[in-house]
Amino acid sequence: MQNYLLGEAVFSLSNGYLGIRGSFEEGLSGIGNKTIPGTYLNGFYESVPIPHAERGFAYALNSDTMLNVTDGKQINLFLGEERVCLNEGKVLDYSRQLNLKEGVLTRTFTWRSPHGRDIKVTAKRLVSLIFKNLFAIQYQLEPVNFNDTISLHSVINGAVDNHVHEEEDPRFSASLGSLGLSVQEILSLDTMATIISKTSRSGQTMAASMENRLFCDGTYSLDTEKTSHTASITYRVDAVPGLTICLEKYIAYYTSRDYSETKLSSLSSDLVSRAKVIGFEALLKKQTRKLKHFWQIAAIDIEGDPDAKSGVSFNLFHLRQAAGGNKNTGIAAKGLTSEGYDGHYFWDTEIFMMPFYTAILPTEARKLLQYRFSTLDQARTRAFELSHPKGALYPWRTIGGEEGSSYYPASTAQYHINAAIAYAICKYTEMTGDYSFTLDYGAEIIFETARLWEDLGAYISRKGDLFCYNEVTGPDEYTALVNNSCYTNLMARWHLNYACETARTMQDNHPDAYDRLAGKIGLEDYEIAAWQEAADKMYIPYDDILKIHPQDDGFLDKKIWDFAKTPYYNYPLLLHYHPLVIYRYQVCKQPDVILAQLLLDDLFPLEQKRRDYQYYEPITTHDSSLSPAIFSTAASELGFYEDAYKFFLLAARLDIDNRYKNTHHGIHLANMAGSWLAMVYGFGGMRTTGGNLRFNPYLPQKWQGYRFRIIFRGALLEIKVSAKTVIYNLLRGDTINFKHVEENLSLNKGEYAIRDLHKEPLNIF
Ligand code: BGC
Repeated sequence: MQNYLLGEAVFSLSNGYLGIRGSFEEGLSGIGNKTIPGTYLNGFYESVPIPHAERGFAYALNSDTMLNVTDGKQINLFLGEERVCLNEGKVLDYSRQLNLKEGVLTRTFTWRSPHGRDIKVTAKRLVSLIFKNLFAIQYQLEPVNFNDTISLHSVINGAVDNHVHEEEDPRFSASLGSLGLSVQEILSLDTMATIISKTSRSGQTMAASMENRLFCDGTYSLDTEKTSHTASITYRVDAVPGLTICLEKYIAYYTSRDYSETKLSSLSSDLVSRAKVIGFEALLKKQTRKLKHFWQIAAIDIEGDPDAKSGVSFNLFHLRQAAGGNKNTGIAAKGLTSEGYDGHYFWDTEIFMMPFYTAILPTEARKLLQYRFSTLDQARTRAFELSHPKGALYPWRTIGGEEGSSYYPASTAQYHINAAIAYAICKYTEMTGDYSFTLDYGAEIIFETARLWEDLGAYISRKGDLFCYNEVTGPDEYTALVNNSCYTNLMARWHLNYACETARTMQDNHPDAYDRLAGKIGLEDYEIAAWQEAADKMYIPYDDILKIHPQDDGFLDKKIWDFAKTPYYNYPLLLHYHPLVIYRYQVCKQPDVILAQLLLDDLFPLEQKRRDYQYYEPITTHDSSLSPAIFSTAASELGFYEDAYKFFLLAARLDIDNRYKNTHHGIHLANMAGSWLAMVYGFGGMRTTGGNLRFNPYLPQKWQGYRFRIIFRGALLEIKVSAKTVIYNLLRGDTINFKHVEENLSLNKGEYAIRDLHKEPLNIF
């Protein structure tokens, strides 16, 4: 069973706006209701009340659930009276291929019916990277050994529901109950049909249209039909052996989140009509051209390790597929490949995915930041609900901008989401040089979220009057509601400093913009002084005996989890132990201190980072898929090469090999981006601290070489590492300045530089 679901997730197609799981057009018999033939529209959700048995003040009341929407991919196929179903009859040959260069999914099979009729099928599909509302299928058939009627029943189905299969796994999806989509109207004309549906609570409307075109040399007839929730067209072809039959089907989706409700139906029917004229092959050519562009920048070559290379390429493809929403949408933890985590956006985007998008698809990175700006008002409201008179608190998990988690210890208490967003703005600006984002949107986010940091903390006399945060949760969710989470305090300090620096830069260089913004949000100079003081006096936990950073004030007072007595089948711990049991031990789900040391890499000497790594790695279960890539990247810097490679390979192949056994819930996008991070920041040693680009590469032992490219301030730079040298090649742009280890390099148009490769990355602090 899981295999179907797994295939559906890894073979999902998407363009960041529209996502289609890899379920079969002709369906499966018997287990049909156990597959998840999902179709998702980024940002289209139902607002579902959170059932609290015991509700507290300002608990989150609603959760946005990404909806499984109108299904357009169904093509039921009949040979005479016999229905083609791959889990019945006999499959004589079968292959399914995701072409990463073309962005097309191709499934071919020869199937023998229980009565001995053989049919060859080639089903191709693409989710257009050009027309973001469009999905197209080309379904080709060839009867091998029979004369009979073949019926192709092409359906668009508005009776869809979300799938809640594994309610015991909190990482899957909440139940919609009676909420969700309901069909309002079905319009049909010849080979086209449109279904208008509405959500019950979030008040969103959508239109989905299908258009069909049959190519066939033989004779055929067609019928159309409408029910209360479906529209269909049936082609009946007089089949003879060797006849080729090809159905092209186009499906378009438009929603009231982007367009006026009255226009949805005409927009979607116009698009499928247009697609029918363009045709599948021409759409595919356009798709390939678009992807060629992407691969010219994003491709990573690895010599001597095909597994690593294919894993990374697969991950990069999914990252490309996840990008392309609009300024009102983010990227869900699972992209548009499943209802896992209800389609929610997390800090995964800002901390894990943004480095990739800023370096490879900077316009997409900007849109992702703009999405956060579009929900700033909800973040202000949330701060107010949590008794902060000023400022903004971003939600831990959301779609529409409101907090969607019922379990505040591991959600609302993760205040570090605020710092993640400010950090992503800073890194975007460093990489792209685009300060206009800060002026138009970013500064408002940075200041409002800094206000929250200032209001949240307090000067505590028992801590030497230093600035402390109590009852917060850091990234490691196996510890919650602690005092002085090291990660949180470090990131808050960085954030407050960055807010002060942004204010100063704007006052000096863009005084009008600063005055406008200060007027809009009522920002006073004394607030900036207070941010600076809080940053200067921030308390950072440190243990003088172990000479490490404790994860929080009480972390080292706990017993270490008994790993020796924990059977392998009890991982992930969160599925086998009550949170209170886990919270009582030193055990980490994912990097916390180690992540802070990577993000704020210039603040810690290597020796300190090594000690912290050696303390935390053995007590980390890596139960979160966000873990391995960060440990790999850190291990590269620290010279722990075996760990660096081991964790990198795990990250590179986590979904393609279903290493966490839950890829059927959807792919793990943060980890996918993490595998890029482990390549570029880990093996390549790239950093952009303070806006200064630098590299400190090394070659993993098993490899003969590797190559990657990045865009820095509009310039395209290639970094090619081989056994003895590294070549930096400026492929596009007039000039680029950066450091190779400690040497300043400057390349002009068309220039390259060759440098000796150090056996190990050097300590450059
Ligand atoms: C991790 C979070 C992450 C979420 C979504 C959880 O398991 O602990 O850090 O944001 O998954 O990927």
